[in-house]
Amino acid sequence: MDFYNYIRDIQDFPSDGITFKDITPLLKDKDALKAATEEMLRLIGEVEVDKVVGMESRGFFFAPLLASKLNAGFVPVRKPGKLPFQRVSKTYALEYGHDTLEIHADSISKGEYVLIHDDVLATGGTAKATCDLVEALGGVVVQCNFLLELKFLEGSKKLNGYSIKSLLQY
Ligand code: AMP
Repeated sequence: MDFYNYIRDIQDFPSDGITFKDITPLLKDKDALKAATEEMLRLIGEVEVDKVVGMESRGFFFAPLLASKLNAGFVPVRKPGKLPFQRVSKTYALEYGHDTLEIHADSISKGEYVLIHDDVLATGGTAKATCDLVEALGGVVVQCNFLLELKFLEGSKKLNGYSIKSLLQY
């Protein structure tokens, strides 16, 4: 299946100069959704996974699907003020300004194997902050997994040392 046909470019969204990769055409097609999930599982391979961590908000589409197939739990990483229980936070630099991500303090146990999933790898800041949160809890990142990677933004450089897999590359 040619998954590229199911990714739509939206110019100047959410702000001028950004070409947004809209994955909703893929999500709404039952065959494409199933096939993309299966292909991402193939990229994950035989590694042991205890938890799949997905980042707010588009990481939530596939992360629980992958977790269920991998016989693993799902853990959300969220923007500040959303998680109700005791949290660990990580603030990281953006091109202009800062952002913060949070994870529940009891979501990962020391030594657990963790797969990180998001829809898009862009500059890598979100994924790197998520790796830092997982490791702060004692988790071991086994792979950073993405539906698609914007190669020209070189996000993989920020994830140096981690296994990075993406189904589609631009
Ligand atoms: P980054 O931290 O720069 O790697 O950005 C990754 C996050 O921003 C992901 O959660 C994506 O959902 C989102 N994102 C960044 N750039 C795009 C884009 N061009 N199209 C769609 N989502 C994007």
